Amino acid sequence: MQTKLLIGGELVAGEGEALSALNPATGEEVARVREASEAQVDAAVRLAGEAFETYGRSTPGERAALLLEIADVLEAHQDELAELESLDVGKPWPSARDDEMPLTIDTFRFFAGAARTMTGSAAGEYVAGHTSMIRRDPVGPVAAIAPWNYPLMMAAWKLAAPLAAGCSIVLKPSEITPLSTLRAAELLNDILPKGVLNVIHGKGVDIGDRLINAPGMEAITVTGSPATGMAAMRAAGREIKHVHLELGGKAPVIVFDDADLDAVAETIRYGSYFNAGQDCAQPCRVLVQDGAYDRLVAAVEAQVKEVQIGAQKAEGTEMGPVISEAQRARVAGFVDRAREVCEVVLGGSEGAGAGYFYQPTVLANVDNDAEVATSEIFGPVVTLSRFSDAEEALKIANASRYGLASSVWTANVGRAMEMTSRLRYGFTWVNTHGVGTPEMPWAAMKGSGTGCDMSVYALDAYTSVRHVMVAH
Ligand code: NAD
Repeated sequence: MQTKLLIGGELVAGEGEALSALNPATGEEVARVREASEAQVDAAVRLAGEAFETYGRSTPGERAALLLEIADVLEAHQDELAELESLDVGKPWPSARDDEMPLTIDTFRFFAGAARTMTGSAAGEYVAGHTSMIRRDPVGPVAAIAPWNYPLMMAAWKLAAPLAAGCSIVLKPSEITPLSTLRAAELLNDILPKGVLNVIHGKGVDIGDRLINAPGMEAITVTGSPATGMAAMRAAGREIKHVHLELGGKAPVIVFDDADLDAVAETIRYGSYFNAGQDCAQPCRVLVQDGAYDRLVAAVEAQVKEVQIGAQKAEGTEMGPVISEAQRARVAGFVDRAREVCEVVLGGSEGAGAGYFYQPTVLANVDNDAEVATSEIFGPVVTLSRFSDAEEALKIANASRYGLASSVWTANVGRAMEMTSRLRYGFTWVNTHGVGTPEMPWAAMKGSGTGCDMSVYALDAYTSVRHVMVAH
């Protein structure tokens, strides 16, 4: 197994503490990966800075060719990468292979095209005797921080856009799920010029902190929790750096009386328990209009009780364990604190076996301001609450500090348009939830972050608009 870091084009063993990577389905150690030492973080930062001097001047066409080559090599190794991902995160094998790898690969193909769209606006004479032009240039070396829920796909989102823009990168995957990213780093090292991509390993509080605070990193991009986003903003505040944040979510699923309730229940079964609910866009906060409430609770119960939990490759596994013992205790804590004030329709307890399993859980009659309705649980838990009309639904949804994903379910097109125009969320689906594509932004508002991943708009985080003026 590849457990070395990538620094300046060399694969090197970490010189810090050895951290365990566990199989969440069994609790057993599958690998030990040594953290970077402080000197190794500093070396990665310095070498990314040196590589930027050349890579930042490459042509869009050259960068597009590299991104296409990356997509091809990931595709050629997709079984191996999905195997590592499934082992390290506990995901059902078919999800890792068939749901995540295609989007991971396509992200690089999309940004190969996007690299060639980076134009400034046309030149002109805005002051007599002077010609102005607008350039859009890479910001410089980027410190990229990724989470553990989709380690390789999130790494792809953190790499493809800055590589397309002409930035060099130091990437830190989550300390608990480094395996797929380290193997991908080895593969990409055969393609990218030395130092353009550096991958280090280590805990957020020390190695991550040193990276985001390193002078020379001109931008910080984080996918992770709001606490890490705040740490990035503090680091940027010390020196003034660009900051791009994709943080937590608490997606409202707003279901009107006239919605197709079977479709909602099916989406909850396949969407809310996907990746054991550890998804920033998880359809987790179901707001139901009074007239549909009882019918939807029954439909959700019927669907969710069919969800089969198990190990990665066990026949029929739909949902695996959560990532760690600590995460399971956190999820259980939310549910336990809610028992007194809501109805536990399904689940609410640990699963069998040595792994970190937690039963698919459905909580009904949840107050709209209850902790389980307003805080991100990041586990296999769905709440159902009531509302009476559109204004009330908007008020409840928009009161949230989170502003990532949302969905509206109704047969009335006018109402759907009114709701989508007024919801303060980075993305809103109508009569579906969770469908993503690289052409469209994964966008954040409010406490869920700044800017977006994917789409040509992701390039904004990694480019600066510049004015050049020539006197005649
Ligand atoms: P986390 O914030 O604990 O960790 C994310 C990364 O940040 C890890 O690599 C970690 O080591 C690093 N980190 C932690 N503290 C740091 C610090 N002080 N300085 C620098 N780096 C630091 O988040 P997590 O538990 O890995 O992931 C779950 C969170 O990520 C959830 O809130 C989830 O909603 C969010 N998420 C958001 C998106 C999105 O697109 N918006 C996608 C996936 C996950």
